[in-house]
Amino acid sequence: MTDTITAAITLPTPQRRIVTAVPGPKSLALHERRLAAVPVGVNSALPAYIARAHGAILVDVDGNQFLDFGSGIGVTTIGHTDDAVVAAASEQLKRLTHAAFTISPYEGYVRVAELLAEHTPGTHAKKTVLQNSGAEAVENGVKIARKYTGRGGIAVLDHAYHGRTSLTMAMTFKAMPYASGFGPFPGDIYRTSSSYPFHDGLSGAAAAKKTIVHLEKSVGASDLACLIVEPIQGEGGFQVPAEGYLPALQEWCTANGIVFIADEIQSGMARTGKYFASEHFGIVPDLVLSAKGIAGGLPLSAITGRAEIMDAAHPGGLGGTFGGNPVSCAAAIAVFDEIESKGLLGRATVIGEVLRAGLLELQKKYDIIGDVRGIGAMQAIELVVPGTHEHNSAALGKIVAFAAGQGVLLLTAGTHGNVLRFLPSLAMSDDQLRDGLGVLDDALAAL
Ligand SMILES: *Cc1c(COP(=O)(O)O)cnc(C)c1O
Repeated sequence: MTDTITAAITLPTPQRRIVTAVPGPKSLALHERRLAAVPVGVNSALPAYIARAHGAILVDVDGNQFLDFGSGIGVTTIGHTDDAVVAAASEQLKRLTHAAFTISPYEGYVRVAELLAEHTPGTHAKKTVLQNSGAEAVENGVKIARKYTGRGGIAVLDHAYHGRTSLTMAMTFKAMPYASGFGPFPGDIYRTSSSYPFHDGLSGAAAAKKTIVHLEKSVGASDLACLIVEPIQGEGGFQVPAEGYLPALQEWCTANGIVFIADEIQSGMARTGKYFASEHFGIVPDLVLSAKGIAGGLPLSAITGRAEIMDAAHPGGLGGTFGGNPVSCAAAIAVFDEIESKGLLGRATVIGEVLRAGLLELQKKYDIIGDVRGIGAMQAIELVVPGTHEHNSAALGKIVAFAAGQGVLLLTAGTHGNVLRFLPSLAMSDDQLRDGLGVLDDALAAL
């Protein structure tokens, strides 16, 4: 059956607009079909079925328009159905949709590798492997680090999120919902403290010392292949580490022959006003992982790193059928072009300023906002029991539901489910941002 329900929906205007209950009758009908055909393990935050999208607006099958503060979890960073991405991918679809780079290579893959070498931190010689998903990028980063070092240990941080494959869910901090009941898990993964200034109150140097001492005592530096960090933690709650924390970890890794990996799957690709968030902290990771925003909505991920580390894997040791699909590569090249030609790094910075100013205003008004944090178009608020640092997850669900009913799509995050995160596309206008902040104000007032 073709999707006759969605065919009638036209391109959105740039405003939110609610014309039915949310979810509306057509979404509810689709939801019935979905419940019969799709397992409950896959759920949807807001079961309004989307028919079209453009810029910062999603339109559902009932014609409701949502202002999108999630961007499909930070994927459509340059905007939904960006014209240049659509044109490049459409053109590529007609020329070559698949050849398997490990069988028959093509230029797009090489071009994406060149662009990543140019735009990831550091001026050293770099090489890139392309895959499909973020979890695959993490898996391959670990493979390469192990082969290069001849060691097994993987160090990860509290509150980290690295994916849902066997290895990456074992590397992820939060058991529920990601890992609970899905074991046994691969071994040789060592978890240690992160920097979470709102809760630990530690300076970067003190937090780094804690992280490092724990690893030295519980594993020993000489058994570690890699330490993987998200420069700004994503699912964990947008924790921005204290100043000096990440450089201290990098220094320790370098001194001990440990590959320092930045998982920039959520924080990279212009999200924070730089190509990669690592740049804000003055770190130059050995390996940088990209995915989410890299191809404007098409599946693509990348492992970019020091040439000598990347070349440690033997010929044939890296690959995969779909990795670096030509259509995804064409879209990624268009994303890099758009970031440059539209000045989107600057736009991400401005969006950050507008959002942050608005969120700080709301913090003055509502004492359940304990913390406002983030960089660029990656901002969050942490909800607390007023007057304490205790997590307040009960309020979060109410805010998200209220906003959805008003046509604003908000995402949650945080180990304790008490963080509201904002990942607007860089196509979101100041008017749209302020409109969304107004709805958030109403949602907080209605609590
Ligand atoms: C989303 C995410 C992943 C996993 O990416 P998938 O494409 O979902 O496999 C890994 N790391 C971080 C930081 C992420 O945000």
